[in-house]
Amino acid sequence: MKKKKSRNREKRNSREYTNVLWIITGVFALMVGYLVWFQATESRSVINNPYNARLNTFEERVVRGSILASDGQILAYTKVAEDGTESRIYPFDCTFSHVLGYADYGKTGLEDMGNFQLLTSNAYFVERFLNELRGDKNIGDSLVTTLDVDLQTAAHDALGTRKGAVVVMEPATGNIRALVSKPDYDPGKVEENWSELSSSRDSILLNRAMQGLYPPGSTFKTVTLLSYLREHQMDGSGYAFHCTGSVSVGNSSISCYHGTAHGDLDLTEAFARSCNSAFADMGRNLDVESLQTLSDQLLFDSDLPLSFPYSKSSFSLDEDDGEALRMMTAIGQGDTLVTPMHMAMLVSAVANDGVLMVPRFMDRTENYTGQLVERYSTETYGELMTAEEAGILQEYMRAAVENGTASALDSDAYMAAGKTGTAEYSSDKSKSHAWFIGYAAGDKPDLAVCVLVEEAGSGSEYAVPIAKRIFDAYYAD
Ligand SMILES: [Zn+2]
Repeated sequence: MKKKKSRNREKRNSREYTNVLWIITGVFALMVGYLVWFQATESRSVINNPYNARLNTFEERVVRGSILASDGQILAYTKVAEDGTESRIYPFDCTFSHVLGYADYGKTGLEDMGNFQLLTSNAYFVERFLNELRGDKNIGDSLVTTLDVDLQTAAHDALGTRKGAVVVMEPATGNIRALVSKPDYDPGKVEENWSELSSSRDSILLNRAMQGLYPPGSTFKTVTLLSYLREHQMDGSGYAFHCTGSVSVGNSSISCYHGTAHGDLDLTEAFARSCNSAFADMGRNLDVESLQTLSDQLLFDSDLPLSFPYSKSSFSLDEDDGEALRMMTAIGQGDTLVTPMHMAMLVSAVANDGVLMVPRFMDRTENYTGQLVERYSTETYGELMTAEEAGILQEYMRAAVENGTASALDSDAYMAAGKTGTAEYSSDKSKSHAWFIGYAAGDKPDLAVCVLVEEAGSGSEYAVPIAKRIFDAYYAD
């Protein structure tokens, strides 16, 4: 009898235990199901659409992750005050403004490009589960970029108070190491300064590197040169020109910079010293159709492999366009317009033996403790020109440093090559934008740069020194 009673109690206990287990299992299954649903049903396009109300749901559940430089230095993070108030902090203030973008008043730059990753938490499962149960927020993943603090700072400081843009890219990987656009702003104060920023006559919020369209000036001579060389089986040895300082075009004339008469020139000298008369004369005789083909191959009027908003560079020259426009186009003063980013991609392809790598801003995502979540691979875009053509352009660009307009880049620490440009943008010939496109090789991966300084003067005087500060900073240690 006693025994039976105890058996009954055991039975009851075991039944209660089973019930509790079922309830716990049920709750757990619901939570797991909920978490799976939460992660699986929200597609990137939904979360990345800044106008979608669901975004708020994510921001209510996840503390926005950090954005890091390639070496792990923090470029942006979210500070949570004791009362739960969040603020986005940018430790380098305005240095990274356009490339990081902002997150408080709409989203731009990497804050926009990486929005999904920053609002996704891959913290440990149990931790996430418990936070969800408590109604606490999880910490979003960190975005590790390809950006380099020293190079970004060098480019930012070198541009100083001028308006313009600098892009620094690794030709072999496509890694964007620095991207500066000026004037800039403090990304942490966009909301409070919105009316001032959005109405500024200087278009402060415009990312000039990506969206600014400028006449390319003499940097376009690289394209003209390639077109000429193609028409001459890549052999420039038969070329000769006598520069008197200007050539006449209809009723007007095209002059060399400061009216300099360059005298007798071979093709290398004409390019290295950036003789406008020689290249305008070359343009007069160029086959327009092959120049059009080349401009297509070099991605003018084309979509670019970029995840940032950008402007398309434009090139237009037709068979029936007059001699004057042909000559102007050959020296980068026709109707051609380019973005600094596009020019950085072109010179990167030259440095990389003709192959363009897709510009890469994001290296990987990590959870907030630093554990790898996803790595983004480098990607080959394709061949913009043959390796032979790129090799020959490299020699011409090298000559511009050894014995031409970019001689200030001659250094023992690295071997630089490039092309300067001075682009007139108004009928007032004294007004011009300064350009430099080029690259340097040394004991580190090659580095390509594009520098554009608005309303400055010659590329030699205003853009080359900026490239020099970047190369010097890179190869210094
Ligand atoms: Zn000349």
